[in-house]
Amino acid sequence: MSFAELGLHQALLTAVAREGYTTPTPIQLRAIPVVLEGHDLLAAAQTGTGKTAGFTLPMLHRLMANPTPAPAKRYPRVLVLTPTRELAAQVAESIATYGKDLPLKSMVIFGGVGHQPQIDGLRRGVDIIIATPGRLLELATDRYADLSRIETFILDEADRMLDMGFIHDIKKVLRMLPAKRQNLLFSATFSDEIRTLAKTFLHQPREIDIAPRNSTIDTVTQKVTYVEQRHKKELLSHLMRQGDWQQVLVFARMKHGANRICDYLNEVGLPAAALHGNKSQSARTKALADFKAKKIRALVATDIAARGIDIDQLPHVINFELPNVPEDYVHRIGRTGRAGNDGEALSFCAPDERAFLRDIQRLIKREIPVLAVEGFTPSAAADRPEAPRPPRPPQGGRGRGGGQGRDGRGGGGGRSSAAPAAGRGESWNRPASPQRAEGAARPAEHRSGGPAARAEPAHTGGFAPGTGRGNLPAHNKPAGAGRPGGGGRPGGGGRPGQHRSGSRGGGGR
Ligand code: AMP
Repeated sequence: MSFAELGLHQALLTAVAREGYTTPTPIQLRAIPVVLEGHDLLAAAQTGTGKTAGFTLPMLHRLMANPTPAPAKRYPRVLVLTPTRELAAQVAESIATYGKDLPLKSMVIFGGVGHQPQIDGLRRGVDIIIATPGRLLELATDRYADLSRIETFILDEADRMLDMGFIHDIKKVLRMLPAKRQNLLFSATFSDEIRTLAKTFLHQPREIDIAPRNSTIDTVTQKVTYVEQRHKKELLSHLMRQGDWQQVLVFARMKHGANRICDYLNEVGLPAAALHGNKSQSARTKALADFKAKKIRALVATDIAARGIDIDQLPHVINFELPNVPEDYVHRIGRTGRAGNDGEALSFCAPDERAFLRDIQRLIKREIPVLAVEGFTPSAAADRPEAPRPPRPPQGGRGRGGGQGRDGRGGGGGRSSAAPAAGRGESWNRPASPQRAEGAARPAEHRSGGPAARAEPAHTGGFAPGTGRGNLPAHNKPAGAGRPGGGGRPGGGGRPGQHRSGSRGGGGR
């Protein structure tokens, strides 16, 4: 079935064609008719499935089909609530893209930037608000944002919302909405918590589950490689050079860890930026824009910050550290292999992360193939506290391990504390823990790559050719494959600000 057959407004069909979409994705095929008919919807769809267009296209269609009686006076008619600033910006960008030819105004509202532009934008009037909860509640409480005429309320990535402790904010927002409205809830998974939340505000929802629970996306090639924690940075730079990776998203568990990886890559001549909650909104926006524009080769992100990153044809995701929450693994690898493109997700598993790997494999119900990278595979002795000999330094002078200590011991105690999690079984449910965001409530930060890492001699030349190290094939997908139009979203910077009314939102949870 085509987009035209779904009965969408001509301007939307033009926009979709401009983006190069030829056929609706499964979530779009199923969600669009439901939303067009005005039903409430409970949808399980992972990121990368095209779910944003799945709710945006019919939402825009309905706004056009039911114009307000007094168009001169605009009230917000649609509210999209997202867990992170990045996702809000991303959704706003999609709305701006698909609604380019429509006389509708949208704006993002989030914290981390000045209030005034947002207040001004609201005063001028908008049809669609895309917001994170904190700033929206502030502006609504101060009566700048009037939510009393919202016709459609969309809760995106609701599972992550709950993870981040937004349940009370969501409830507060719901109390500000009119009783009669359409509600759409999107979540990567249908956990018991999500179903409980859904019951509180969805009315006879249609249910769509296009993502079999916790399955991982088939277009992503998943591999795991065993490596000592203290050799991970070298392994990363080695793989990046050997495969000539130009765009790799690297996941770290902790903000400081992300900084250290980033510093290391920059030191060894691989331009990188970090993306996490301690960064200012402008730094986050710049990091994302530079990454999209391929000005930097690596973006090192924490789980929360990475939500909402949508980069077409992102070929490589590295789990520098395995997440201690198995479902985060699914989210992470969903950053690649998007929209039918191939992607490669490689996890670096240190000896003390095996329990996390077991949890992940149990959750996704498959074993992740092991990739041995010559020179980096720990010997059988790796499970002993004393590390084996480090890999041979590339041009001499390295391999001291930097005095970093091993993860899982000392400062890395948090790692081993996760071991009992292995017994959680299939029905594991993520505890609602607001502080878990960005790893804040996680146990002690592991120390790998600590200050001593700075003392490592800079590794500028890569691994000498002929050392035979590494065997990860280079990603060689032709540019532009899978997405006619080349993925060119206007702006590309991931931060559209206000569509048509000039105001820009900021960040804020
Ligand atoms: P989402 O799951 O909403 O984050 O979308 C993931 C990616 O799929 C985005 O880059 C979209 O631009 C792209 N996309 C959405 N719908 C389609 C479609 N029907 N055909 C091709 N790509 C699409």
